[in-house]
Amino acid sequence: MHPLERYFDHAASTPVDPAVLEAMLPFLQEEAGNAHSIHTLGLKARKAVEAAREQVALLVGAEFPSEIVFTSGASEANNTVIRFLRPEFISPFEHSSVRVPACNRGARMLSNQGTKLVPPESGVRAIACMAVNNEMGAVFDLPPLRRSCGALHCDATQLVGKLDADFQNSAFEYAAFSSHKMYGPKGVGALYVRSGSEFEPLIEGGGQESGFRSGTLNVPGIVGLGRAAEVCCARMSRDRDHALRLRHIVLEQLSEVPDLTVNGGEDCSPFILSLSFWGVEGETLVLDLDRRGFAVSAASACKSSSHEEPSVVTALHSDPAWSRGTIRISFGRRNTDDASAALGLAVKESVGTLRELAL
Ligand code: PMP
Repeated sequence: MHPLERYFDHAASTPVDPAVLEAMLPFLQEEAGNAHSIHTLGLKARKAVEAAREQVALLVGAEFPSEIVFTSGASEANNTVIRFLRPEFISPFEHSSVRVPACNRGARMLSNQGTKLVPPESGVRAIACMAVNNEMGAVFDLPPLRRSCGALHCDATQLVGKLDADFQNSAFEYAAFSSHKMYGPKGVGALYVRSGSEFEPLIEGGGQESGFRSGTLNVPGIVGLGRAAEVCCARMSRDRDHALRLRHIVLEQLSEVPDLTVNGGEDCSPFILSLSFWGVEGETLVLDLDRRGFAVSAASACKSSSHEEPSVVTALHSDPAWSRGTIRISFGRRNTDDASAALGLAVKESVGTLRELAL
């Protein structure tokens, strides 16, 4: 079995698609120009960047390619917006790159009933709420939030490239997303700014990206993101059906496991399966599964080194024993039916053993 068949942590990062690597290689080698130089190599780089902007705009359904600003990733894109927008409210499920800058600027958490968010009284200036949660896959209903505020920022990192996006007709003015979650390279992402929306750059200087984000453009990365967007457009429904099938295969293997809850609510991304096992430590389970050859995660990868931060799953369960026993399985293109069945069986055996040891 290829090691990537047993890699079930695609919400943390995805392998670069072969077509993406092929598109990037010339820009890592002979096409070395700075996209803002006026000589031929510079113009070639610039042309490739603008082609990538169109590919990305098409994937997310932006009205104009100029609404796409390339960044170093979703964390930068989130920080850029949060710092000037200063939302009064955020959802309790946000990634740290929204939660930390927003809370440092006085934001409060929206109330929730399970994965359903309660919109605040109207008259709020701005809210930030993600499209799909990275730890449990819950899909949030954004239009009711937009109706009670003047501007909405959406962290769309776990949506873009996986589920249909129609930013032009969406409830939000701003959105962030990342290349390495959609089979592109790490260290590049994008910010969507609806045309005509208020904006202040985080990085000032050379005025690249029409002044929205200064700094020499990461041409190979941007070209990779553009090609990744094109591949995602072409195979979106196939990828989604594949993930749905694998999710069912894993759940089938776990059907007789007692004291198990599936997190994420009714409206859940098929790519993320969040499971809580009573009486088990999620991190111990992840390490035991690693020993058995499977990669999954306990909370999101960006948090797993920090023990002070509770998982967002705590917002769902009143008893912390449930959230402590949570793992995230996230599906991708290289996972197979056999590997998914084997993973389900390994989780079942591992949970059984860990529970016995705890007695
Ligand atoms: N938001 C969400 C929902 C994410 O899952 C991640 C990646 N874990 C990020 C933001 C940060 O993305 P990046 O790695 O591109 O900074």
